Amino acid sequence: MSDNHLFSGLASAAPSLDKKLALLANGSAVTYGEMLALSARLAGLLVARGVKPGDRVAVQVEKSWPCLALYLATVRAGAVYLPLNTGYTLNEVRYFLGDAEPALFVCRPEIEAEARALAGELGVAGVETLDGEGAGSLMDAAAGFPSDFDDVPRGPDDLAAILYTSGTTGRAKGAMLSHGNLLSNAQALKDCWRFTEADVLIHALPLFHTHGLFVAVNIVLLSGASMFFRAKFDPREAIELMGRATCLMGVPTFYTRLLDQPGLTREATAHMRLFVSGSAPLLEETHRAFRERTGHAILERYGMTETCMNTSNPYEGERIAGTVGMPLPGVSVRITDPTTGAELPAGEIGMVEVKGPNVTKGYWRMPEKTASEFHDGFFMTGDLGLIDARGYLSIVGRGKDLVITGGFNVYPKEVEGEIDAIDGVVESAVIGVPHPDFGEGVTAVVVTGKGADLTEQSILQALEGRLAKFKQPKRVFFVDELPRNTMGKVQKNILRDSYKDLYRRSA
Ligand code: ATP
Ligand code: MG
Repeated sequence: MSDNHLFSGLASAAPSLDKKLALLANGSAVTYGEMLALSARLAGLLVARGVKPGDRVAVQVEKSWPCLALYLATVRAGAVYLPLNTGYTLNEVRYFLGDAEPALFVCRPEIEAEARALAGELGVAGVETLDGEGAGSLMDAAAGFPSDFDDVPRGPDDLAAILYTSGTTGRAKGAMLSHGNLLSNAQALKDCWRFTEADVLIHALPLFHTHGLFVAVNIVLLSGASMFFRAKFDPREAIELMGRATCLMGVPTFYTRLLDQPGLTREATAHMRLFVSGSAPLLEETHRAFRERTGHAILERYGMTETCMNTSNPYEGERIAGTVGMPLPGVSVRITDPTTGAELPAGEIGMVEVKGPNVTKGYWRMPEKTASEFHDGFFMTGDLGLIDARGYLSIVGRGKDLVITGGFNVYPKEVEGEIDAIDGVVESAVIGVPHPDFGEGVTAVVVTGKGADLTEQSILQALEGRLAKFKQPKRVFFVDELPRNTMGKVQKNILRDSYKDLYRRSA
């Protein structure tokens, strides 16, 4: 078996850990031996169902440990794992199944009838079910297969997974990830974050996103560590688990929710050695408040579906709030001018580009899109950022969110930072809205706290003298909450759409 096979790489620690706990799901303890045995049975089942190397196995199920075994089984069978967000409607699933043409679709039992009809229509050969407790037709069928399986050989460039992006900036795209992409990234993260068999991760992220699957799960398996496996993040329960865990991987909202809990103290987190944040920007304020309360500096890292993880704040060196740290070993990051494409020096804001063994081969069945996203061998992340003199990268927003007003570039994050600092503001989103005189007009959408007495005028006044005139919003709107997708990311395209006619001159 090749060392580059994702399964044999991830499971290399497992044989010596047969009886070791892999995870504690609600109510059940699962050992590495049990996890590998189920993955073998499921791999046998996939092959018997005609799933061939390179075939896609689409999976839209609730989080459960058998679902994890199914991921391993798919890779063992040489097939391509294709997890789908459980929040997608049947109509969205139709698009993804039509795009990916899987050989098998594993769905929630509730939608079995519709899934079968859809599969018939789209020519998907098989449908199985799996529920959040880990029961369903898939498990019934797997029971008859042996608990060992000869893994189908695969090379580093062979596909292991297709993962659709979160769809924050438009329609989700299928990023093709190879065995080499996923294994090299897991190895780099394990080394950077010093993961060992002694680690116990609180795993409360979904399994259909790069963070929960290709970061969290892969590091745990590769290290022979254990995890508390939870379907949802409950901050109170997480604090209880911290007495027995060593690491939490979360999105920024996990940390703001933890800070709401009086139980979050130095004592409660004393057993923990690492708190990681990613998927969306962590506010400096959250970083500071968490450090004051617990003594832990949250380690922020930056990645994306197409590349897994790119950069991380250091484990041992200084973790700088507001930055996403430095490139992982083997990864190069550069900043280029959005108009000329030339590489920019330290301190200048531009487009973030990434190169390394972690970078996708491209988007599934989108050769033109793929070609347009690469620049001299670097993948164009679409994010705006800068690298400081010490080599730390900061993400200042999405390229698509850059506002160009009267010929000047305005980075929404800077304006949002000033608005968020105003007493009574909970959060804000700054967008560019078509404007007849300026090209785009800086526009702020603000959420205020209970009882805050803020008006458009008072916000604009507070910004006077804090921001250059061209950066100040032309209009300020108040909303109860910002539109977010399931990963907690603000969907600025929805906001831009809502306000698109704001400055339009009436004919
Ligand atoms: P789509 O590509 O479909 O519009 P998406 O980019 O949100 O969706 P993901 O791949 O899930 O889909 O998210 C990656 C993006 O998340 C990055 O490009 C970046 O904009 C953002 N991101 C991830 N980690 C961080 C971080 N630590 N700080 C700031 N932004 C981050
Ligand atoms: Mg993206």
